[in-house]
Amino acid sequence: MVSDLAGALAGLSAAPRLLVASDFDGVLAPIVADPGAARPLPAAIEALRLLGGLPDTFVALVSGRALAELTALSGLGPPARLVGSHGAEWSTGPVAGLDVERAGVLAAVTETMEDVAGCYPGVLVERKPVNAVLHVRRASREDAAAAGAELTERLARWPDLRVAHGKQIVEVGVAPNDKGSALVTLRSAAEADAVLFLGDDVTDEDAFAVLTPQDVGVKVGPGETRAAYRVDTPEDAAAVLAELAALRVSANRS
Ligand SMILES: [Mg+2]
Repeated sequence: MVSDLAGALAGLSAAPRLLVASDFDGVLAPIVADPGAARPLPAAIEALRLLGGLPDTFVALVSGRALAELTALSGLGPPARLVGSHGAEWSTGPVAGLDVERAGVLAAVTETMEDVAGCYPGVLVERKPVNAVLHVRRASREDAAAAGAELTERLARWPDLRVAHGKQIVEVGVAPNDKGSALVTLRSAAEADAVLFLGDDVTDEDAFAVLTPQDVGVKVGPGETRAAYRVDTPEDAAAVLAELAALRVSANRS
């Protein structure tokens, strides 16, 4: 481990209230060809469990995966807090599920979508925990285009929606979905004085961007980053977590 990172971890370990947050794939779990086969490194999970059991120490995973998948693959549960769908799905805590207002918007959006789908043969609606998805794969090209246009027009009354146009789908979300917002929420919920965040991908940059000088960001692997520190592999990331856990345990004893 590079010595300046070791020094930064020593600093973190002395924080009165510490939040340790991490991405999952490519950080705790090596990237594999079949996303369903991803498994976290036991050493990483063991370090997170140890940290989560210490006083004034809070552990969170922030992933792009759906929450249910993240929960199953990581094997982590309370007191660790799991945040899926890039910050849109929360296991517990300040944003468990959607708040009443957003849940209402999602219901209205889904209803509108079903209304539109009902007018075009082959157009279907899929309900997800914080999103609604219009599928047009089975519709004629004309109907697909018309359904998309009508939906866009009718959704205009909700200016804050997150609308993503994919292959033969239009996915509409009602919750904030970036890892930066998620990390800000986690930090304030934990009233943390300092934060460690580990990430490997482009979406993790949103989280690195909200770190403050007393925090530590660790990028895992190659690529441009805002993080101040970098390690090469998930094994190295597990070593970072283990080191911090060991330091925090002894800081706690003294
Ligand atoms: Mg990742």
